[in-house]
Amino acid sequence: RAKMAGRNQIAFFEESMQTEVENRLTMVRDLAGAIASEQMQMFIQAQVDSLGVPSGAELLMRWTHPLRGAVSPAEFIPLAEESGIIVQLGDWVLQQACLVSLKLRAQGWDFPLSINVSPKQFRQSDFVDKVRTTLSDSGADPRALIFEVTEGLLIDNLQETIIRMRQLCQMGIRFSIDDFGTGYSSLFYLKRLPLYELKIDKSFIRDTPTDSSDTAIVQAILAMAKHLGLRVVAEGVETREQADFLVASACDSLQGYLYSRPIAVDAWLQQHAKPEHVKQTSLADS
Ligand code: C2E
Ligand code: MG
Ligand code: MG
Ligand code: MG
Repeated sequence: RAKMAGRNQIAFFEESMQTEVENRLTMVRDLAGAIASEQMQMFIQAQVDSLGVPSGAELLMRWTHPLRGAVSPAEFIPLAEESGIIVQLGDWVLQQACLVSLKLRAQGWDFPLSINVSPKQFRQSDFVDKVRTTLSDSGADPRALIFEVTEGLLIDNLQETIIRMRQLCQMGIRFSIDDFGTGYSSLFYLKRLPLYELKIDKSFIRDTPTDSSDTAIVQAILAMAKHLGLRVVAEGVETREQADFLVASACDSLQGYLYSRPIAVDAWLQQHAKPEHVKQTSLADS
């Protein structure tokens, strides 16, 4: 009887594996056509300063699959990475970022816009050229962009990575370490990389200020960043208590559902009219 059950389990296992492989293949194929068929969309989530004023924003990709509906980036980004489609998606994100930064500027906002750059995209030999061309074609200001990279980028070829980061910094682009604290954390590279910012991973923020170890970790990151001259953003801020703790600990910028969920860029632009001082200027002009 046990044997029978075991055999059935194996058959079931093989079948589900097969379905999974097929699902993956279908998803990769669909992903490859997603931009052309206008299924991808850019969402935006603001980062706010201690007064609640937007001081930055992150662009996040959203995929609406024709049959499956919304597919989470947690699902499709790894697929895109493994299949190489991330390069194509990354190009598109960069173009969108340039357009959005121009729209923000036109609406009187002057905070930088952050995009996620995957390791595979960053390591393409023509990455720097592509960034330069995309920026100049669009007329966007490189100083309006921040590239978020993860610690995974630093695992191999650190020297090459540093050179490339410096080339992009020379153009005016700034770098942020995303999900800081979850990956290959070495104090060695923090000192050597041309960094502007650290983003504390949301897993460390979640249980602050109740959990004493997480609270200590966050404070240690803030102290270290201050010594290194780096700005700090906390991601995943969901409660007033977390925000109060972070502001009291002198965290520069907060991002999370407490302030807003990521929303479609055009909706954001509609909801966030020109800041007051710009309105006044344009009134004076007319
Ligand atoms: P990430 O770059 O660390 O982005 C932050 C994630 O946290 C986003 O998930 C955001 O929606 C979510 N988030 C924001 N506030 C809160 C909060 O208060 N609580 C919680 N629990 N979550 C919050 P999302 O949009 O699902 O993206 C997941 C990951 O997918 C991103 O993590 C990023 O690594 C990747 N990703 C998204 N868009 C792109 C893209 O355009 N290019 C690349 N290469 N990766 C992307
Ligand atoms: Mg990010
Ligand atoms: Mg992050
Ligand atoms: Mg994260």
